[in-house]
Amino acid sequence: MQIGIPGALLYQYYISFWRPFFEELGFQVVISGNTNKELVNRGVKVSVPELCVPVKIFIGHVFELLDKGVDFVFIPRMEAIRRGEFFCPKFMGLPAIMKYGVPGVKGKLLTCQINARSDDISNYKHYLPLLDKLDLSIKELKKAAAFSGEKWKRFRTINKMGYMSCEANKMVVEGVSGKELLPKENNNHIKLGLLGYVYNIYDDFVNMGITGKLNQMGIDFITFDMYEEELLDQYVAQLSKPLFWTFTNKLLGAGYQMLQKKLVDGIIHITAFGCGPDAFLGRLLELESDRAKIPYMLIRIDEHTGENHLQTRVEAFIDMLKRRKSKIS
Ligand code: SF4
Repeated sequence: MQIGIPGALLYQYYISFWRPFFEELGFQVVISGNTNKELVNRGVKVSVPELCVPVKIFIGHVFELLDKGVDFVFIPRMEAIRRGEFFCPKFMGLPAIMKYGVPGVKGKLLTCQINARSDDISNYKHYLPLLDKLDLSIKELKKAAAFSGEKWKRFRTINKMGYMSCEANKMVVEGVSGKELLPKENNNHIKLGLLGYVYNIYDDFVNMGITGKLNQMGIDFITFDMYEEELLDQYVAQLSKPLFWTFTNKLLGAGYQMLQKKLVDGIIHITAFGCGPDAFLGRLLELESDRAKIPYMLIRIDEHTGENHLQTRVEAFIDMLKRRKSKIS
């Protein structure tokens, strides 16, 4: 039996758990391919305008899995991974959006509800709703959850050593444990904070290959997922009231830490058109960057953004940071 996992939204954060989980249970896992123009157009076509670009792209990935003829498409309802905080409403509504809004999904939807107390979502109880549909025993479920939970922890260990999520996921598949690795070295002259959700900063079609471009330009960058969760929580605690959405808080905590400790020469924040939480996040980061006197640039991506436009803005921003740094030093 084939289980499809869309390569979008939280894919880069949780695939090191979900893929081994289903494989350990004896299923064949099929991942949709890379995002491309046709896939985006298919998602956009069936979407209501209120949906943000990443959800429209997710729909395109689901179509691709349906085309491949998978038996089920796994779309969990992500509710919480912190006490008192939640995922953005679009994550919570995702299974329903797909079931009722996307033709062909209804009979193939495989879902469960993730309501955890930490980023570690490996408690088998979250996956109990899968038992009947996949004809599994609790013993099998417990074993697969424990096995894949260890893989995910390995992924986070590598990720927090300064490797991007996409690099860390690949290393887990290749059997790297993390113990043999040294933290990634950052020796370049300019250091940047690259802020954005995993589905914006690690999808090369969405961000037009910004991570590769920064590497080519010799720019070091830090992303929120490279941080210890506890450190991010400490910085978020500066707010009299944290934001409602966990991943938005993570980006904010990372941004505050980079700015207050003056770890970076500038921040590029990649956001997507139609994102409600980022309207708060962008303003808070802007205020903090003013206080720290560190430049901040917001790049908002939509389904029509052109590569040249992005390249020009990034290059101009980096040039400005270089000139600024040479004046200061
Ligand atoms: S946080 Fe923003 S971009 Fe992400 S799913 Fe919610 S609205 Fe969309």
